[in-house]
Amino acid sequence: MTTCLGFAAHEAHSALTPFRFDRRALRADDVAIDIAYCGVCHSDAHQVNNDWNNTVYPIVPGHEIVGHVTAVGSSVSRFKVGDRVAVGCQVDSCLQCAPCAEHQEQLCVHGPTPTYNGKDRHTGEITYGGYSEHIVVREQFVLRMPESLDPRYAAPLLCAGITVWSPMRRYGVGKGSKVAVVGLGGLGHMAVKLAVALGAEVTVITTSPGKADDARTLGANHVLLSNDATAMATAANAFEFIIDTIPSSHNVNPYLMLLGREGVMVLVGAIEPLEPIHGGLLIRNNRTLAGSLIGGIQPIQELLEFCAEHQVLPSCEMIDIKDINTAFERLQRNDVKYRFVIDMTSMRDVAL
Ligand code: NAP
Ligand code: ZN
Repeated sequence: MTTCLGFAAHEAHSALTPFRFDRRALRADDVAIDIAYCGVCHSDAHQVNNDWNNTVYPIVPGHEIVGHVTAVGSSVSRFKVGDRVAVGCQVDSCLQCAPCAEHQEQLCVHGPTPTYNGKDRHTGEITYGGYSEHIVVREQFVLRMPESLDPRYAAPLLCAGITVWSPMRRYGVGKGSKVAVVGLGGLGHMAVKLAVALGAEVTVITTSPGKADDARTLGANHVLLSNDATAMATAANAFEFIIDTIPSSHNVNPYLMLLGREGVMVLVGAIEPLEPIHGGLLIRNNRTLAGSLIGGIQPIQELLEFCAEHQVLPSCEMIDIKDINTAFERLQRNDVKYRFVIDMTSMRDVAL
């Protein structure tokens, strides 16, 4: 066992404060990782605030982790000390069931083990995430960082990136696809960059007029303001694929109207009941409303390789860990361009 310093929330809506806890001793198939960078996902804020009614306190969030290997268990064959690695939203699963066998470990029928606020499969201990100095992860859930991927900017690929990449690949987004991205935040800005890299024609649908220039700089071809009824009506039936990243309950009907024939809208943001959906909007045009949960380990590795090859990098605002509470406040009032990433060397300045 090793002692680890992290930042934890001890109750809903409370500030994160320094927190010391134990990381387990290495099992045979474990990898120990020193954390260099950790992204700040809106899910971290949801979990800290117990928005999904499943938070166990204290909670150490963080599931966009980049670092290097400091030790390996006796049966580890794919990693050695010094390797640059990454960890995403899950650290274990059964690896036996059909989804696990088909590289969808996040859908493990026995329940995946989340990187934080989960239960270790062997001991039942609560898992603690990447807002911390180091972490121990089962080998199969460790990603290899390509040499040409800048580790300072890679962290958001581990959740924001894979969450939008996975459905775009599933539904065949590619050259010339007409894609709309609803919500230009952490997930949304990655959806824009990745869809553009895949050759799609991309429209950003936003509530923030001030993000229009950014959207174009990120590569979007068009910008639609969701509260501009005329512009929304003009865009009816225009898209083949829409990804909706809005982080709370909302009315999806105005977006469904924008899908063309056989169009698919994928919901990734609102993990809660939605406002009523008009069945007629789905039936007309043979539209599909789908959902998607992060992505499996092999698809994340493929995403990292794709981003290295095409130099698709998240737009990060680097912060010190002591500023994490300000970052949470800004995230929740829609003031981030477009992902906070904690530089973990700043943990050295933290006194407990
Ligand atoms: P984020 O950085 O806060 O971005 C969300 C964006 O949605 C905002 O930038 C804003 O964009 C728009 N928005 C915010 N509030 C809105 C509202 N009330 N109505 C309409 N638009 C609104 O959040 P994120 O990190 O991208 O995460 C987005 C959601 O995805 C969160 O709920 C998170 O928990 C969830 N998530 C799901 C998965 C999954 O596996 N499905 C994985 C990771 C995260 P504009 O200013 O452009 O309108
Ligand atoms: Zn996340």
